Amino acid sequence: MLDYHLHLWPHEQRDVALHLDQIAQYCERAAAAGVVEVALTEHLFRFTQSEALVDGLFADDPSPALRRSMAAYWEHHARSDLDAYVELALAAKASGLPVVVGLEVDHYRGRMDQVGALLSGYPFDVLLGSVHWVGAWRFDDVADPTHMAEWSVRDVDAAWGDYTLAIEELAATGTCDVLAHPDLVKAAAHWPAQPAEWWDRIAEAAASTGMAAEVSSAGWRKPCAEQYPARPLLERLAARGVGFTTASDAHRLEQVADRSADLRALLQAVGVDQLRAYSARVPRSVPLGAATGGPER
Ligand SMILES: [Zn+2]
Ligand SMILES: [Zn+2]
Repeated sequence: MLDYHLHLWPHEQRDVALHLDQIAQYCERAAAAGVVEVALTEHLFRFTQSEALVDGLFADDPSPALRRSMAAYWEHHARSDLDAYVELALAAKASGLPVVVGLEVDHYRGRMDQVGALLSGYPFDVLLGSVHWVGAWRFDDVADPTHMAEWSVRDVDAAWGDYTLAIEELAATGTCDVLAHPDLVKAAAHWPAQPAEWWDRIAEAAASTGMAAEVSSAGWRKPCAEQYPARPLLERLAARGVGFTTASDAHRLEQVADRSADLRALLQAVGVDQLRAYSARVPRSVPLGAATGGPER
């Protein structure tokens, strides 16, 4: 098993000091759950280097409240230094911990070339591709009443359609390696009448671009109360031969490797016995339930 989606600090904290000890503790907890390799994947938007990417990005969202909220979100989050983060991850790897160096990257619509150019200057092993917002709407931010209120004024099917289009656009840019929490739009538990079209298109977006898909336990901790992706989407991905990672999306130590055994059982149930790991952004197969031997050094 892998845990290929880990954050080093919770959203409410900002500008925290990073320590090798914390990564060692993550690895220890992961190993105890049968996870043999982890990817550190902090959000790109936590780093000051992302500020230029987002400047004016939400200017054409029609809602002043959402635009204001997104500006405040950036002000809160973009506080740390990407170089220091990457250096810490490299130091963890060099110390022998079973770590790969990653990042969770969002869909900066129309600006993924800039994102790719920025990230190409760093020795990443794996880049997660995520959609957390449509325009300036953070549809999955279940703790934020402004954003959750949108669910009662928007058409649910249209929201799923907007989300799916963003996934397709992000995948087509080829910027990232793994589609993180592929059906995140369900986080707040608003379900479309006919999800099959969205499932088909999300699965095709991964299959047609060679991206792997993440199977994540984080959905169990959200109102949707199920893993990402939903079982019918997982089946569609597996049927198309898409590779998989497993992930907790932990933001604190107690969440590392959360429900790994349940993720393994799900993958076995759809006939998957290999996962996809990455070194220097090159994929490699690892057994679902056995040791990988760790990342190459
Ligand atoms: Zn995410
Ligand atoms: Zn995440």
